[in-house]
Amino acid sequence: MSDAYCVQIRELGGPDVLEKTQMEPRHPGPGEVLVRQSAIGLNFIDTYFRTGLYPAKLPFTPGQEGAGTVEAVGDGVEDLKAGDRVCYLGQGTYATHFTGPAARMLKLPEGLSEDEAAAVLLKGLTAWMLLFEVYRPQPGETALVWAPVGGVGSLLLPWATSMGVRVIAVTSSEEKADMARGLGADEVVLSNEDVASRVRALTDNKGVDVAYDSVGKDSAKASLDSLKSRGWFVTYGNASGAVEPLAPTELNRRGSLVMTRPGLFHFVADEAGLKRGAAALFGALRTGTLKANIGQTFNLEDAAEAHRAIESGKTTGSTLLKP
Ligand code: NDP
Repeated sequence: MSDAYCVQIRELGGPDVLEKTQMEPRHPGPGEVLVRQSAIGLNFIDTYFRTGLYPAKLPFTPGQEGAGTVEAVGDGVEDLKAGDRVCYLGQGTYATHFTGPAARMLKLPEGLSEDEAAAVLLKGLTAWMLLFEVYRPQPGETALVWAPVGGVGSLLLPWATSMGVRVIAVTSSEEKADMARGLGADEVVLSNEDVASRVRALTDNKGVDVAYDSVGKDSAKASLDSLKSRGWFVTYGNASGAVEPLAPTELNRRGSLVMTRPGLFHFVADEAGLKRGAAALFGALRTGTLKANIGQTFNLEDAAEAHRAIESGKTTGSTLLKP
């Protein structure tokens, strides 16, 4: 396995701190499997560990998900064998190989490629969490969806509309606005407009039932001001930076709002949650409600370039790294 390598971070900083490093794949211990990876999903969170916004012990291999073929299994593994195609969430997937617990591996359904699986797993589970576990919008309700053509957004948007939800999408350019309409957005507002006023105008001055906000610092106030009385502010990301602290009275003043800051890993930490989410996601892919949307692909060794791309805000759909 002399071709094995990973991408490591030895010091925090800009994309250039991502360095290709030779490695020896770890032999699977009891209950583990070794996977030869063929695709790795890039997630915005990878940039937070790189910059230090989220803490990590150095040296550190980023990456939270991947897909590939099982190469070897450890003692006691019965449900998987060499040759099985799997996808998974896990720490340190910027590598040619990944060793992890068999119990966390998901067998790929027929018809789903490894690239597609790596493109949708974490982001699709996030969309599932938002729509089914955090705030489940009812048919006829209205949702505000930020970054609607990004990795999570391009799955969240069509999944919400398939539930009979009216979606008002907020994005940064006319080109992305057209893509959002193509994904089913009922209305699109540009982020350089007065978003809350536009939302009021589009909702008979009532506001939306829920805001799914991944932009964070730059969007939080507009989301709060766009909600109807007793609406839900679901702030789930920091693409523009972390949201400023907010006094509880701000929620009361706008009409007893509910604010939550969910993280996927709390919803899939146990096997039951992971299996429930994966069943919903694979089902939505099977029926065509969702489609893997691979916007751009980079060689794993060019991870720095991929980080620059996602941080520029110009990417659409999912970004893949190929070992
Ligand atoms: P995206 O593909 O959505 O990329 C980020 C998008 O955010 C951009 O394309 C852009 O969309 C928008 N954006 C607005 N302001 C900025 C800015 N200043 N810099 C960069 N982008 C900006 O990324 P992901 O789908 O991977 O992730 C989206 C967010 O969701 C991230 O913050 C991520 O951490 C979070 N997330 C949270 C999870 C959780 O468990 N809570 C799980 C997964 C993701 P536009 O041009 O349309 O405005």
